[in-house]
Amino acid sequence: MSTVNTTLPLANRVAVITGASSGIGEATAELLADRGATVALLARRADRLNALAARIEQRGGTALALPVDVTDADALKAAAERVATELGTADLLFNNAGVMLPSPVNEPRFDLWQRQIDLNITGLMNAIGAFTPQLIKAAADKGVADLINTSSIAATGVFQNFAVYTGSKAFVSHATRNLRAELSPQRVRVAAIQPGIVMTELGDHVTDEAALAWLDAERAAYEVLESADIAEAVAFLAQQPARVNIPELTVMPTGQV
Ligand code: NDP
Repeated sequence: MSTVNTTLPLANRVAVITGASSGIGEATAELLADRGATVALLARRADRLNALAARIEQRGGTALALPVDVTDADALKAAAERVATELGTADLLFNNAGVMLPSPVNEPRFDLWQRQIDLNITGLMNAIGAFTPQLIKAAADKGVADLINTSSIAATGVFQNFAVYTGSKAFVSHATRNLRAELSPQRVRVAAIQPGIVMTELGDHVTDEAALAWLDAERAAYEVLESADIAEAVAFLAQQPARVNIPELTVMPTGQV
């Protein structure tokens, strides 16, 4: 365990990040740790999580790698118990793991539809179910806690071949609004971050030729976001005074219409 620098803005916070093995989650874990938070790193790839935890510890932070598939509710519950025991009560959940697998509806890919629903909807709710008791407890003890869900501009945008992904992100954004109504009386701030295109591994899993051509053209036309840009947005939400809840934050590449 490292010594906590109590002058950092997120000192004394215990943050859980899902999808921490790459992209937005990885960058956010690093930034929250640099700002003083103790971080729990959740994703399936243990090697990536261990390497990230080692980097954070080398810089003086405290990190716990917890390899877990968030579609497995029981595994998440066990991970939540380890966070409470080994790091303390979680007061921030960055609920970020997600997958984007576009395909045309007239060539039905039930497998790809199911994977997106399982992770982007069921996985998101599994994490909320596992960590909400800790967020409520932390909010009662410290006066504030944060539930921050990664949605997307896809929640409201219209894109060919993206019906299931966009639908899953619409779920994230609207569930977030409703969860805020439920949890804000208990001082848990609830927010959705809605990024435009970010350069991550998200596109690496895409097999649909039309979607890949669209993604390539967008990336060539303007400078897309970096994961660190979204990490800054997450830290911005978490560092607000306890009275301030920004429920929705859309972050666009300047060049993306
Ligand atoms: P990445 O593919 O880089 O990150 C996805 C993360 O989710 C990985 O850490 C992956 O780790 C994890 N993950 C996947 N499946 C599971 C699972 N079953 N259990 C636990 N973790 C899992 O992409 P991004 O960083 O871009 O994606 C993060 C979020 O941002 C997603 O919700 C995405 O929809 C959203 N988003 C991304 C945008 C973009 O343009 N990149 C734009 C708008 C929103 P592992 O494989 O090790 O499990």
